[in-house]
Amino acid sequence: MAAVQLWYTASPISKESNVTDSSFASLALSPAQLDNLGSLGYHSMTAIQAAALPLALAGNDLVAQAKTGSGKTAAFTLPLLARLNPRDFGTQALILCPTRELATQVAAEIRRLARYQQNIKVVTLCGGQSIGPQIGSLEHGAHVVVGTPGRIGDHLRKKTLSLARVNCVVLDEADRMLEMGFVDEIEAIIGHTPSERQTLLFSATFPDNILAMSARFQQSPQRISVESQHDSPQIDQHFYICQSQGRLEGLAKLLAHYRPDAAVVFCNTKQLVREVCSYLEQQGVSAMALHGDMEQRDRDQVLVRFRQQASRVLVATDVAARGLDIDELPAVVNFELPRSPEIYVHRIGRTGRAGRGGLALSLFTDTERYRLDGIAELQQRELTFEAIDTVAWGDSPMPPPDFVTLCIAGGRRDKVRPGDVLGALTGEAGIDGAAVGKINVMDGVTYVAISTDLADTALGRLLNGKIKGRKFKVRKL
Ligand code: ADP
Ligand code: MG
Repeated sequence: MAAVQLWYTASPISKESNVTDSSFASLALSPAQLDNLGSLGYHSMTAIQAAALPLALAGNDLVAQAKTGSGKTAAFTLPLLARLNPRDFGTQALILCPTRELATQVAAEIRRLARYQQNIKVVTLCGGQSIGPQIGSLEHGAHVVVGTPGRIGDHLRKKTLSLARVNCVVLDEADRMLEMGFVDEIEAIIGHTPSERQTLLFSATFPDNILAMSARFQQSPQRISVESQHDSPQIDQHFYICQSQGRLEGLAKLLAHYRPDAAVVFCNTKQLVREVCSYLEQQGVSAMALHGDMEQRDRDQVLVRFRQQASRVLVATDVAARGLDIDELPAVVNFELPRSPEIYVHRIGRTGRAGRGGLALSLFTDTERYRLDGIAELQQRELTFEAIDTVAWGDSPMPPPDFVTLCIAGGRRDKVRPGDVLGALTGEAGIDGAAVGKINVMDGVTYVAISTDLADTALGRLLNGKIKGRKFKVRKL
């Protein structure tokens, strides 16, 4: 499995806690950049970022390996931006990518990460586009050039690009560039850069010839590698073709058939999130929506409730699900196939963690069928599908959730700790400790999961009792 999405450990809960080692604030980055990262929702580093950034910011060459979707772009972009002199219009950083699509994505990410500074020009140079406008942009100065080796080679031969002031060269997706036979072109390009430079090599896989490539272009590189936490065989992937008008029913059927203890259902749009959620509710399945139009507070609450097993189904868009960190999520359902295979891999990476088997179920219609090919290709495996009609409804629907979340109007600021809440429940209130689930203390509130059958009793007792000698408002979510 690719992409173990390590930043999903950046839950809204940990975001509220003190700065940890994986916080960007531990790095030598400008306050403006730290603000920018916060505004992008990057609250903590992914594993590859935590490993690569300190070394790269210190100027080391790196050979870094991590799966697709692990945040490699920021791992090389933050160091090169930190060093960039905006007043020097010479090209100071060069990023080589295997394809135009990848170069375009990387350039977009660099622009986002560079937006804390004004006037940083990022130019994309790829084949398949006319060269004239590219020459025009280069004449206006390009601090950062992102492109494919072929087209960058063309510009060097035409002398429309100078790499004489480049201080950082990035080989992104180096394995794919090798596969595509770009190595000689890359060598020629690097020959145009100063020998005093930083060279960062990023790759999703680590074939032997990567080391040979590294030896040719790098100086005492540090080698880092972030293992994926699980491999795709541990995720059981099933694909179901359905009619577009049968999709909602197909979803209900899959949930009834597989009866996962919990599942995240991904939709491509927020409108669909709402529709799917209300449909499931109508069917008696407890489901909660998570999408970008919701207030951050409401989103945090939904995530807490889902984590506390107070709802079995979370219906989400990809963007909203970014803060999602659920240990051992039993199942992921794609209500539709996502627009790119990378997103599919991100999505299903949420299940089957910690060595447990995971279940990934996908519904698609005939018009989305081509997306299956991309998914098969990215995972380098053959995929088969079945008709949703061949799936049997289970004998009984999904059971109600095991827990109810109680919200106590006091948190870290009031010096409330999990032990205080547990003590209040099991002491005077006389609730069996086994009926108390997860306790999440936030700044101003505390959420505690209570067994569904004891929720009302616990609520009443908390309302009448005290926590740390104080009375707090308590309500059921
Ligand atoms: P890779 O190059 O490893 O495949 P990308 O750099 O394309 O991965 O990142 C994948 C996605 O993760 C992007 O949408 C990016 O914006 C997002 N991302 C990267 N770093 C973080 C982070 N620290 N926190 C949240 N999202 C991140
Ligand atoms: Mg990448």
